[in-house]
Amino acid sequence: MILAVSKLKNPPSPADGYRGRFAPSPTGPLHAGSLVAALGSWLDARKNGGKWLLRIEDLDTPRCIPGADQQIQAQLLACGLLWDEDTSYQSARQELYQSALEVLNHQEQLYPCHCSRQMIANTLAALQIQTPRNQEMVYPGTCKPESPRGYSYGLLNNTKSAWRLSLPKDCQIHFEDMLLGPQDQDLNEQVGDFVLKRSDGLFTYQLAVVVDDAQQGITHVVRGADLLSNTARQIYLQNILGYKTPHYKHLPLVLDEHGEKLSKQTLATQINTQDAAHALAELRKAAKHLGLVGLPDGERITIAEWLLAATRAWI
Ligand code: GLU
Repeated sequence: MILAVSKLKNPPSPADGYRGRFAPSPTGPLHAGSLVAALGSWLDARKNGGKWLLRIEDLDTPRCIPGADQQIQAQLLACGLLWDEDTSYQSARQELYQSALEVLNHQEQLYPCHCSRQMIANTLAALQIQTPRNQEMVYPGTCKPESPRGYSYGLLNNTKSAWRLSLPKDCQIHFEDMLLGPQDQDLNEQVGDFVLKRSDGLFTYQLAVVVDDAQQGITHVVRGADLLSNTARQIYLQNILGYKTPHYKHLPLVLDEHGEKLSKQTLATQINTQDAAHALAELRKAAKHLGLVGLPDGERITIAEWLLAATRAWI
């Protein structure tokens, strides 16, 4: 199966009105990298006269830090990045993910999997397949049934197994990134059947983000380039669930001195928003990273004035 965004059902139309979002995981306060994603998506929405939503992606509870959602919101407010509509929390939307999972089960697109990470690593090693650093292991299909079927509700809610999406033999996805141009991914070769519900009962990012983007009517996803390799999976899921595919724009990542993406794991320091002057300095760094030039650099400008100038300069 070869999918191209232009051929998908229900592509977003201008009549939908621009709806963008920023979707941080509350694993810590905002750092320079997440501010770039926040500012880039905010500017893109404002430039296009659109709405900008804030969604806290707090599904992976073991990784969430209590209070980080509040810190993130306070930091965004200090930077003048105001969002439209109420903040949404993925933890409060589990029934939506469960319904989508049931739809896919009904379509006979799922199967239970009992493989641990170690088992997958061993199988790949036996097959002499190496996983490049910083890349996920391609699932070798160990638990994939010969012929697809639907499973009972009881089994689907059995928390002892993970649930994977069974990809068709040919599954190449093509899409146009609004910044990076044409993108192609062969899902079987580069990802394999991926998990939608984990063995600990948690829904995965791939399923939740697709359901939320569709349910919240998101037309434009502007986010960091670290998420680029997830987009083909999301487009495929949108297609089989009958959702519209938004436009995608992946922004340049902020790297540390070792060339690693800034993250809580790499001990990225939080942005300093203790007062307006510091918040503006952080915004200026983020704008520079996004390639914005010619912005007012005086001391006396307010954040609101600076954001207006940045919106005008955004392409
Ligand atoms: N929650 C994801 C993250 O913080 C972002 C998801 C997205 O923008 O699609 O990396």
